Amino acid sequence: MVTSNTLFADAQSVLVGGVNSPVRAYKAVGRDPIFIESGKGPYVTSVEGKRYCDYVLSYGPLLAGHAHDMVIADIHNAIIKGTSFGAPTRHETALAKRIQSMMPAMQTIRFVNSGTEATMSAIRLARGATNRSHLVKFEGGYHGHVDSLLVSAGSGGLTLGTPSSAGIPHEVTAFTHVIPFNDTAALTTCFDQYGAQIAALIMEPVCGNMGVVLPDPEFLHACRRITSDHGSLLIFDEVMTGFRVHKNGAQGHYGIAPDITCLGKVIGGGLPCAAYGGSTALMHHVSPLGPVYQAGTLSGNPLAMRAGLAMMSLIADYGVYETAERQTHRLVAGIQHLCQANNVAMQVNALGTMFTVFFSATPVRSLTDVNNSNTDLFKAYFNYMVDHGILIPPSPYEANFVSSEHNDAVIDDTLAVIQGFIRDHHNQLRL
Ligand SMILES: *Cc1c(COP(=O)(O)O)cnc(C)c1O
Repeated sequence: MVTSNTLFADAQSVLVGGVNSPVRAYKAVGRDPIFIESGKGPYVTSVEGKRYCDYVLSYGPLLAGHAHDMVIADIHNAIIKGTSFGAPTRHETALAKRIQSMMPAMQTIRFVNSGTEATMSAIRLARGATNRSHLVKFEGGYHGHVDSLLVSAGSGGLTLGTPSSAGIPHEVTAFTHVIPFNDTAALTTCFDQYGAQIAALIMEPVCGNMGVVLPDPEFLHACRRITSDHGSLLIFDEVMTGFRVHKNGAQGHYGIAPDITCLGKVIGGGLPCAAYGGSTALMHHVSPLGPVYQAGTLSGNPLAMRAGLAMMSLIADYGVYETAERQTHRLVAGIQHLCQANNVAMQVNALGTMFTVFFSATPVRSLTDVNNSNTDLFKAYFNYMVDHGILIPPSPYEANFVSSEHNDAVIDDTLAVIQGFIRDHHNQLRL
């Protein structure tokens, strides 16, 4: 019989660690990864035929669940006409207009293939447009595996305990300042000292890659004000939060217009697609109009564009975002009720359709708080959930995602499992 364990052993003979992205190897939870055969709606099915309710959702993109009929139909219609042309198609314009209508700060857009490409290109643009070299990022902020941003980064970097990476000369990160999130004083000090040299502040406006950590709205407004005061650009990396924390992104939720926005995940409808954009004047620094070079063989390819268009139509015309947000609220309110009723040391951070459960007695507002949470309990929680048919990201430093297909019955089943976990681990969890 085919099992995940035998497939993983085979995979390790040809793939690095058996995977193509490190978190999938399940190292932080001490078991072998589950190989997936298929997905539909809120569920994935393993190669063993076991069905799981899925809160990973490909780490964010699948706002409408797995294999949504409309997305699949549009990909099918695209694929029979050819997969890539190296020439423009009208779908790129259509998707750009859809995105722009929901994020007006993105007046002019460039599509790329991954979130990493979007942030890499955004900082090149910022440096090219300002003629400055320095960058500022926050501790625990993850912006893809861009050399100059892989400093004190979240996501896989945190999980593996390697906050930066081998293979990055320190000269490459010498211009990258790292300061704590939600710390306006540290931000002010940094800009007072280096402001005239800082090209951009790049940030996840709502952190998702150290688990969900919310900004103080005042802090976000300070980020906007201080960057403007020093002639630096504000880059919102909304690769995760775009169409996940609000229909108009974190920028819509908080009412703050960044200079450059990076998108990915949801806008590709489950296919590789990302984008960066900003004011037309700023974006005209990018080739072919300006001197900032950036290109891509498969960028804006018709499959990703059609999948993205189907997803944006589901959001704009079919209420998929609102449904997913309502279901997230049902789940989060349910978990919070369980925590209070049982007096346990758990925190739920959530916004829109993203949430993280932290095993902490006190609120989690920074990377330090995240690091002080109980990772042994997370491991027990992960294993309990998976053993009870609920798939969550295999790391305490990740966001969980909800789709519009997670109906009331699915949410209530999940709450029953979490109730069981609290009951079984009450001695360790009690406040
Ligand atoms: C996922 C993510 C990225 C990287 O996107 P990839 O498509 O994995 O390269 C960048 N920034 C944020 C905030 C992300 O969540």
